[in-house]
Amino acid sequence: MSPNRTSGADNSAPSADTFVVLKFGGTSVSTLERWQTVAEILEATLAENKRPFVVCSALSGVSNQLEALAALAPTGDYAELIDQIKARHRALADAMAVDADAALGEYFEEMDRMALGASLTREVSPKLHARIMALGELMSTRLGVAYLQSRGASITWRDARTMLVASDEPHINMHRHYLSAACTCTPDPALRQDLANEPAKIVLTQGFIARDAQDDTVLLGRGGSDTSAAYFAAKLGAERLEIWTDVPGMFTSNPRDIASARLLYELDYDEAQELATMGGKVLHPRCIAPVREQQIPLHIRCTLRPELEGTRISSDTQDFGAQVKSISQKRGVTLISMDTLGMWQQVGFMADAFAVFKSHGFSIDLVATSQTNVTVSLDPMANALEAQSIERLLADLNQVCVARQIGPCAVVSLVGRNIRSILDELGPAFEVFDEQSIYLLSQAASDLNLTVVVDEDQAERLVRNLHAHLFNRRLSDALFGPTWNELFAEEPEEASAFPIWWRTRRAELLALADDAPAYVYSAESLEQSVAAIQSLDAVDRIFYAMKANPHPDILRLFEKAGLGFECVSPGEVERVRELFPKIDAARILYTPNFAPRADYDFGFAQAGYLTLDNLYPLEAWPELFRGREIIVRIDPGRGRGHHKHVRTAGPQSKFGVSPDEIDRLIAAADAVDCTVVGLHTHVGSGIRTPDTWAENALFLASLRAHFPKLRLLNLGGGLGVPEQAGQAPLDVAAVGALLGQVKAVHPDLELWLEPGRFMVAQAGVLLARVTQTKQKGDIQYIGIETGMNSLIRPALYGAHHEILNLTRLNEPAVQTAEVVGPICETGDVLGHARRLPKTVEGDLILINTVGAYGHAMSSNYNLRAPAREIFMQ
Ligand SMILES: *Cc1c(COP(=O)(O)O)cnc(C)c1O
Repeated sequence: MSPNRTSGADNSAPSADTFVVLKFGGTSVSTLERWQTVAEILEATLAENKRPFVVCSALSGVSNQLEALAALAPTGDYAELIDQIKARHRALADAMAVDADAALGEYFEEMDRMALGASLTREVSPKLHARIMALGELMSTRLGVAYLQSRGASITWRDARTMLVASDEPHINMHRHYLSAACTCTPDPALRQDLANEPAKIVLTQGFIARDAQDDTVLLGRGGSDTSAAYFAAKLGAERLEIWTDVPGMFTSNPRDIASARLLYELDYDEAQELATMGGKVLHPRCIAPVREQQIPLHIRCTLRPELEGTRISSDTQDFGAQVKSISQKRGVTLISMDTLGMWQQVGFMADAFAVFKSHGFSIDLVATSQTNVTVSLDPMANALEAQSIERLLADLNQVCVARQIGPCAVVSLVGRNIRSILDELGPAFEVFDEQSIYLLSQAASDLNLTVVVDEDQAERLVRNLHAHLFNRRLSDALFGPTWNELFAEEPEEASAFPIWWRTRRAELLALADDAPAYVYSAESLEQSVAAIQSLDAVDRIFYAMKANPHPDILRLFEKAGLGFECVSPGEVERVRELFPKIDAARILYTPNFAPRADYDFGFAQAGYLTLDNLYPLEAWPELFRGREIIVRIDPGRGRGHHKHVRTAGPQSKFGVSPDEIDRLIAAADAVDCTVVGLHTHVGSGIRTPDTWAENALFLASLRAHFPKLRLLNLGGGLGVPEQAGQAPLDVAAVGALLGQVKAVHPDLELWLEPGRFMVAQAGVLLARVTQTKQKGDIQYIGIETGMNSLIRPALYGAHHEILNLTRLNEPAVQTAEVVGPICETGDVLGHARRLPKTVEGDLILINTVGAYGHAMSSNYNLRAPAREIFMQ
């Protein structure tokens, strides 16, 4: 396939030796056990008849200690730190049965000498800094060679500085020169010949260090060992470069966040570069160019699991067609949005604006433009994003446009080749953007990535949903390997991610097996939600958004606790009236949306409060509103953008009156003597960021001057609950404290909330028996007796619900399975890639946190009755 591939190897030596460069990172060289693995890997390479050339990092953590030493040395207060560094190395030497003083004595002395020198001159120059840092690699490699020799290996130690020379860059500052140097990567036949003549079969050297033209020690930048290894591979025309690290390769997403991330067997150089740069931390971004230039394949392997194939990066990849291969996220990004009406056709606006960024020293990452707006992102890796410097930037930008800051944001990127050609296939995956505000979308000209910028607190869910859509249902093949879970999740998982009422009532639930499929609700859990929401002292009234779950016993419990009800249809109002014939109408809040005229008549008659969420009814049917008091729903999305939850797209846009329409609203209301007594906004669902409601309140309060009779602000619902392991619950106390501050500023306004999910989600579980299991390809399926007809949220929103085998709650998870229902739809999947114990027909499965929007959204689809409901005292 690739004619260049062996060019480096052919253009030099008479020797037929073929080199393989192997790089071992910090964790791979820190213990005796890992060094034993290294020895075995080298033996296997020799057995292939190749000559191993080995590049090692310092022991893990030692570079940080040396960095600290360089900082402390001028103070003279470094003795303890030096002792620690020596002790680390002595301990490893002891474990290896290597004489530490013989191997490391000269470096220990040098360390003492350099530190003393720095304490006398009271400074560490970049030149000295580099020499101090170099000790880490020098020591680790000395130990490694001594150990491998003691095992009888034919191995020799070389000083990397005799082989790697930094390129001379004339005007570069001293810092860069010594601490972040670069080398050339052209083949070096002399070095190759020299090493080929070496009697020992294996040569071992240091990563990270090189020399300059004056023979001074220089460093290749933090993480530079990968880069060293790539330079050596290029110089030697190696057959391949192997980077041995603590993960087995690159994955479809960061496996520490998404356990169902799959190993990628193959990537081309461009894709790997994109992934390394976009936040995948497996490879140093600078190590790819040298091997790409010489067309040397790069393998990422795992020292902990040497049997795994890992990821192979080359230009010689199979043609998998257009594919998304990975999803990455980068957090802590700030956006600057610049509005200007004058920009259209105005010469030089962009140049002026960008000059301001330059003069403030900000480097811009992504850019999106429209006729009246330019939005750019500032990468935290490349910029010091302090509040003050951003304020100064904004002040200057405001001379040429209307600039504002948005953030914290996260950049989410889909990486893969020719994504442009498969946008249509990505359609379903993009449905997850429905509920998101996307600030910026960019598609790289290289066609290697598609990138969106969203609120930081939405990124995790977005990545998870996109990942589920794009990868979970894929079979393993030549491209996609096993999941991280399958590779590493050996131990039994904690049976449930969060403490939940049903743990103590498992026996009762198991006894309900014959009633399954069934939703079971816990009164005790509902009472806990009531207590939590009523702990918000600053909130004057709470209306339960009953669409989340209108079960009569749940409504009874809430009614008794004193909550009101937020209703969105005449049916809901009627249910409340039937259950509680004597209820005070003031406890009923009615919120019709695009409802027929008759609903408004009905609402004014039956409910104490009506929320108007559109100008149409007031303008088209003014007489209905004569003399009435109303609450008006405001859509913050079209305000001047001073609000964080700007929804630029999605279903939000069908709700609410725009702030631009307030004059029209007032005129129409005044005409029929209708009074606006309240303002309302509801910005989304499942939110766990505590400042959301205080921000809503401040946004609404900013409009109060228009409404002299205003007496209440309804801040909506949307309070979230954790949905899977590791998620923090909403900090209710923080919500309360922030609302308390709002209340202090606006003591005359009542604050209302209308939570749905928060009140009921955790109180409900869905029980269903296993019907069948099957293995198809390498995907395991577990079928249960009900599916999207009972719980449509996974299919509709990509919602994640924890799934457990209640029958075998304490057995270890041994399989990864798709949990599916009996409905004739491919979308009838309740959970993707779930870890479960061995599961058989008849086991009782529990799906967690389904009290909200579970049964309420169920249907008779396929003429299968949905799960029944059981209320447990
Ligand atoms: C659905 C809805 C709610 C409740 O939302 P949750 O996310 O369940 O808290 C509150 N207010 C309005 C207007 C709604 O439409």
